[in-house]
Amino acid sequence: MSQHDCDLLIVGAGILGLAHAWAGVRRGLKVRVFERSHTPLGASIRNFGQALVTGQAPGPMLDLARQSHGLWAELGVAAGLAIKKQGSLVFARTEAEEALLEAFCVGRAQSLGYRTELLRGAALDNLYEGRFAHHRGALHGLDDQQLFSREALPQIIDYLAGQGVEFHFSTLVRDVEPGRAITTAGRFSARHIIVCSGHDYQTLLAEQMAGLKPSVCRLQMLRARLVQPLDLQHAVLTGLSCVHYGAFSDLPEADAINLEIRRDYPQLEEHGIHLLISPTPYGDLIIGDSHDYGVDAGPFNGEDVDELLIGLAEHTLGGRLQLVERWQGVYGARGPAPFSVLPAAEGVTAVLMHTGLGMSVGLGLGERTVAALLGEGEWPTMR
Ligand SMILES: Cc1cc2nc3c(=O)[nH]c(=O)nc-3n(C[C@H](O)[C@H](O)[C@H](O)COP(=O)(O)OP(=O)(O)OC[C@H]3O[C@@H](n4cnc5c(N)ncnc54)[C@H](O)[C@@H]3O)c2cc1C
Repeated sequence: MSQHDCDLLIVGAGILGLAHAWAGVRRGLKVRVFERSHTPLGASIRNFGQALVTGQAPGPMLDLARQSHGLWAELGVAAGLAIKKQGSLVFARTEAEEALLEAFCVGRAQSLGYRTELLRGAALDNLYEGRFAHHRGALHGLDDQQLFSREALPQIIDYLAGQGVEFHFSTLVRDVEPGRAITTAGRFSARHIIVCSGHDYQTLLAEQMAGLKPSVCRLQMLRARLVQPLDLQHAVLTGLSCVHYGAFSDLPEADAINLEIRRDYPQLEEHGIHLLISPTPYGDLIIGDSHDYGVDAGPFNGEDVDELLIGLAEHTLGGRLQLVERWQGVYGARGPAPFSVLPAAEGVTAVLMHTGLGMSVGLGLGERTVAALLGEGEWPTMR
């Protein structure tokens, strides 16, 4: 380890920080993680916990999601995570949505090896005893996984601590410079420093991060239970999501869905609403989300947005919902690419997501960045 306190010093205990910590400790490195809050409270515990392969755009994001799929399976076993592996269901509510799912299945899914099947007729009717039979079809994404992030992150932390990673919670990193971090708990030296500070672009490396012109996205989220229970095991999406996810959004059939949304549901476009539903281990459902982009995340949730989300969810699930919780999530958005790996100074690298897919690609990103740092592989890029 030489003269340093550690080999790898990581800022942030969100999924990106933990991914890098895991990649480091697996290689026998001495790793320290600094997190300003007492337990992670950022995007990584506020999310749906969907680790999606199916929705990823062809190219680097799909590659990273496929690599992350295997890494989640491995980490799931090692850390004892409750991961639902039944995959995702993307429901087609309209003819336009059905046409897009069909085009995807016979075209891109086959040519690029997305593992999916289109469920219609009896296959759709048999799903959850006919509960979703009012849809026109469903795309079953076989490789998609579902976590309960607010429990998974602490479990990953416990597992990594058991592997020798040293965590410093309630500790702000005030500054980083080559070989050294200045924190509220003192100075620490490190061979490599990796900044995984999520959507905080101002505390560390502010000038370099400003160059990426990042913004933030604020999302309204709900947890609810169905009055007439349903033992949902799949992550659920609808055709509305297809105009947002890169696997589908550039297909010609997406134009008709965009037109339909603009014509029939302008409020959905205004608030960037598309429906995602994630089952928790306790029989209730995480429901979202809206997308509000800006330099900062405004504090005020609109009740009209929650009502739209509840209406969409009740239609798709075919039943009334009782709300259990509401919260706001914020993630880093709209940088130069879906993610940045930024060489900020000698031995200091920032790794940031600029889109809401960190649970899907984060483990692969951490693995590749640490491999590149050690000269074992190429730096992850979008090229
Ligand atoms: C509502 C919502 C739903 C989402 N759903 C999904 C989904 O289903 N699937 C998916 O793939 N992605 C999803 N995402 C996106 C995903 O959650 C993010 O891309 C991912 O969590 C980003 O991880 P991160 O580690 O970069 O950031 P964060 O989880 O925000 O972690 C950053 C951490 O760094 C700490 N930190 C920052 N600066 C300092 C400092 N100077 N010193 C010490 N600590 C510091 C912060 O306290 C924080 O804990 C969703 C996001 C949101 C908000």
